[in-house]
Amino acid sequence: MNSLAVRVVIVGAGPTGLTAATLLAQYGIESLVLERWEGVYPQPRAVHLDGEIRRILGRLGVGEEFDAVSRPALGLRLVDPNHRVLAQFDRDPTAGRNGYPEANLFDQPELEAILRRNLARYPEATVRGNAEVTDVIDEGDCVRVEFNDRSGGGIQSVRADYVFGCDGANSLVRGRIGGRMRDLRFQQRWLVVDIATTAELPHWDGVHQVCDPDRAATYMRIGKTRYRWEFRLLPGEDADDYRDLAALRRLLAPWLGDRRAQLVRVAEYTFRAQLADRWRKGRVFLLGDAAHLTPPFIGQGMGAGLRDAANLSWKLAGVLRAELPESVLDTYEQERRPHAHKMIRLAKLTGLTMTEGGELGNRLRGMVAPHLHHIPGLTRMVTSGESPPLRGSSLVAARRINDRLTGRLVPNDRMAHDQRVDDVVGGRYTVITRANPSTRDRDVVRQRGGVVVSAPRDSELYRWMRRGRASTIVVRPDGIVQSCQGNLSALCASLPSFRAGVRR
Ligand SMILES: Cc1cc2nc3c(=O)[nH]c(=O)nc-3n(C[C@H](O)[C@H](O)[C@H](O)COP(=O)(O)OP(=O)(O)OC[C@H]3O[C@@H](n4cnc5c(N)ncnc54)[C@H](O)[C@@H]3O)c2cc1C
Repeated sequence: MNSLAVRVVIVGAGPTGLTAATLLAQYGIESLVLERWEGVYPQPRAVHLDGEIRRILGRLGVGEEFDAVSRPALGLRLVDPNHRVLAQFDRDPTAGRNGYPEANLFDQPELEAILRRNLARYPEATVRGNAEVTDVIDEGDCVRVEFNDRSGGGIQSVRADYVFGCDGANSLVRGRIGGRMRDLRFQQRWLVVDIATTAELPHWDGVHQVCDPDRAATYMRIGKTRYRWEFRLLPGEDADDYRDLAALRRLLAPWLGDRRAQLVRVAEYTFRAQLADRWRKGRVFLLGDAAHLTPPFIGQGMGAGLRDAANLSWKLAGVLRAELPESVLDTYEQERRPHAHKMIRLAKLTGLTMTEGGELGNRLRGMVAPHLHHIPGLTRMVTSGESPPLRGSSLVAARRINDRLTGRLVPNDRMAHDQRVDDVVGGRYTVITRANPSTRDRDVVRQRGGVVVSAPRDSELYRWMRRGRASTIVVRPDGIVQSCQGNLSALCASLPSFRAGVRR
């Protein structure tokens, strides 16, 4: 049995694993990604990502390539069984608070191919296909990962300082750290249909959720010629009843009519809501679907995995470079678990709005749906494109009662020299101030590997800070506000040393 040694082994080359490997490589941390299959998993699944996730793609260096193959959507519409509009949540198709369209439709295999090509630019990361991980063993000062080389090399092993389990819903790594999925009580069988047609379907260019307890459905256009439908399966039905376009026509008729079209894929999925009861044991972490599963009604499952990777990668880079204390790794689960849970709750709420209650439910929906935008988390998420703030760790602890900014993702506003906030932050600690930083403040921050910048007076960022009653904020390398309490010099002096320079 051969034995290698690397700093980080990442199990699974799905979107979460590829994102984690890229972010670690940008900090100069080497990783080995072990993937069961040879190439990209070819079946379409995720089709939507929001402006916050688009920012992570920007950090990875694939933003423009993604924009070229994705399609901004106008928002979300809830319609009744007769397709009459119950409620509409508009989203900015140009640039909202995140600097990009707030709803982007795409094809998951196409995105994964882009992520893979991009990762190949970094010598720090190696992706090894046909490598099925069979065991993960904590040896105290390192972790041994055993895998089967499915191309004929037999069982091999590699030792790593840390392991990321990005191995999806049926995660082996989760079992090895003694983790179990907690059922959040949602389970529905749905039919997922991908269609290609050159015909122009004359429908509103956003996501349609058909609220119908008999046959709830989702419809959206995801590309120039690509369309996605999802239909709740009735008891006794399964995907075999809808294997070809002729059988599907009955379901697709209200949108597609008798236009010519090609069936790309039809598959049955059971949508579930689940959260792992532990996300870390020692040197082993869970990320992505291995840690959480959500019904896809608000299109946030993959995004949650990318948020996990963005949250953990800079912390681990800091620890491996001996710049941050090992205890910072505890904040990963403390911050990400409640956030993932909140998003799952919103998805469940949307799903239940679409599917529950029979005829009475239909009547109630007609009355309630127009007021859904008053539900706090849903409003922020669906209309302003902002996911809930991070809470729960010492890094994002609010230090005063009216602290409105700590834990929130800083808006990606325009700064000087036609840069955006994300270009300035660039994976390091950043102090943003409404005041004028002194040379001494700048030096203190620079010596710690950070940067201090002034918010332009006429910017939305400046107004956002003023509304949040903050004259200065400390922004973490992942763009989250870590602190906004105290004067400029005190906040500059409070900055940790984090010199892990990012290479794009
Ligand atoms: C119908 C449907 C619609 C969806 N729509 C959306 C949406 O609109 N927006 C959204 O954000 N999300 C959506 N999702 C969810 C999204 O597809 C997933 O959340 C996302 O793929 C999870 O990424 P991941 O990298 O964590 O896991 P995965 O994509 O499952 O990747 C895990 C990888 O690990 C590999 N692996 C597993 N075990 C091993 C092993 N032992 N050894 C080596 N490799 C292993 C697998 O082969 C796989 O490549 C949808 C899902 C479905 C099913």
